[in-house]
Amino acid sequence: MIVTVNPATGRPIAEYPLHSSADVEKRIAGAYDAQKSWGKKPVSERVTLLNNVAEVLRRHKARYAATITEEMGKPIAEAEAEVEKCAVTCEFYAESAGKFLGDTQVSSNATDSRIVYDPLGVVLAIMPWNYPFWQFIRFAAPALAAGNGALLKHANNVAACAIQLEELFREAGTPEGLVSTLLINASDVAGVLADKRVAAVTLTGSTEVGKIVASQAASLMKKQVLELGGSDPFLVLADADVELAAKMAVKARFSNTGQSCISSKRFIVDATVADKFVGLFVEGVNQLKTGSPTDRNNTIGPMARENLRDALHAQVERSVQEGATLVTGGRAVDSEGYYYLPTVLDNVTPQMTAAIEETFGPVAAIIRVQSEEEAIAVANNTEFGLGAAVWTGDVENGYRVARRIEAGAVFVNGLVASDPRLPFGGIKQSGYGRELGELGIREFTNVKTVWIG
Ligand code: NAP
Repeated sequence: MIVTVNPATGRPIAEYPLHSSADVEKRIAGAYDAQKSWGKKPVSERVTLLNNVAEVLRRHKARYAATITEEMGKPIAEAEAEVEKCAVTCEFYAESAGKFLGDTQVSSNATDSRIVYDPLGVVLAIMPWNYPFWQFIRFAAPALAAGNGALLKHANNVAACAIQLEELFREAGTPEGLVSTLLINASDVAGVLADKRVAAVTLTGSTEVGKIVASQAASLMKKQVLELGGSDPFLVLADADVELAAKMAVKARFSNTGQSCISSKRFIVDATVADKFVGLFVEGVNQLKTGSPTDRNNTIGPMARENLRDALHAQVERSVQEGATLVTGGRAVDSEGYYYLPTVLDNVTPQMTAAIEETFGPVAAIIRVQSEEEAIAVANNTEFGLGAAVWTGDVENGYRVARRIEAGAVFVNGLVASDPRLPFGGIKQSGYGRELGELGIREFTNVKTVWIG
């Protein structure tokens, strides 16, 4: 049985019986059979589905957003924006998939040689709760356009979102079974992955789970894309527009109550502007309003689960014991629900917990540095490599700094965000493979060479 809990109150929302092995078998078989026909359809026909999905997303935006907020606690306006982004992404692939998946001619000594992009089959999608609609749509829109089927194993704390996702694809006219949700426990995922009818796997989640799934997929020789944790640096160089950087830093850290893989987590600030930056940043943080995510005046909701809040608080306590200065926040809100006050830690060093570990919640770590060289070294002194931001008055230098940062994406004078037009993914312990853009749609294809003499 899956029991979902409203993180704003700590009270149960609903119970869902787990799928039996017979249900799971039926769903795998359904996806496999449906994909066989789906993969043979031309891309132009497949993409009409994505326009329908976009239309259904917008039609039920209020309902989907309410479910997201109820199950994982993000402020309602952010949940609505999440659903809208899903719709925009479906439309983007509806328009671009034909171009991305068209044959690529390559000259060689053949009369005709080209690359064609065939579907791989049924892809198992293991997804997290933090953007419960977006994470799945980000994978599914391109994967379906490329002719694949999808089995969704969602995080169990967002079971209603998982069910609504399946229903939304059905309502949009998806062939029966092509997109199916599996209500199963994490311990049963390995069995699904091992099924011969499952061709590949994509996981968005923690590095710890990524390693487990990666080794299982490797032993089965199945293609995998892994979008894992991050500890993104946010560099404020000496020549940055400090007011703007501080304002954007609040968004970069505290959107989604800080529970985003690409939240900026380590603020690496040149000592010459650090006092000014910290003053403005903390002023912005103190203006955030923590409270019920259904109240549109609030900007910080509860954390998604009690254990996540407790783990975050333990990281804050360890960092303070190690010598960090607690500037604001640093404790749970004394009320029902899993609220944690927006927290700023100053004088963090690269050896402290808040700099080494991923902090998945509303906690910012400020690391003061003496030079640009030190800023780059500190930024790269992490096991993660997802996103990074560089704030500078000299964009040409910003580009040079960006090239030296070990991450899947570096944004100069901008908020790190996924964009359907641009590839998204990480290096190091943040995973491998790419989603979105032209590279993303090709991940779950057989990039096949056809050579004609
Ligand atoms: P998680 O514990 O890794 O869970 C992610 C998914 O994996 C859930 O569906 C979970 O199911 C499932 N899972 C857990 N153990 C498994 C196992 N042994 N085998 C197969 N599946 C298993 O992560 P989370 O707490 O939900 O999400 C937070 C983490 O995700 C953070 O580290 C964050 O940085 C990362 N993340 C990365 C990205 C990105 O794009 N790079 C985006 C968002 C989040 P259950 O719910 O049943 O446990």
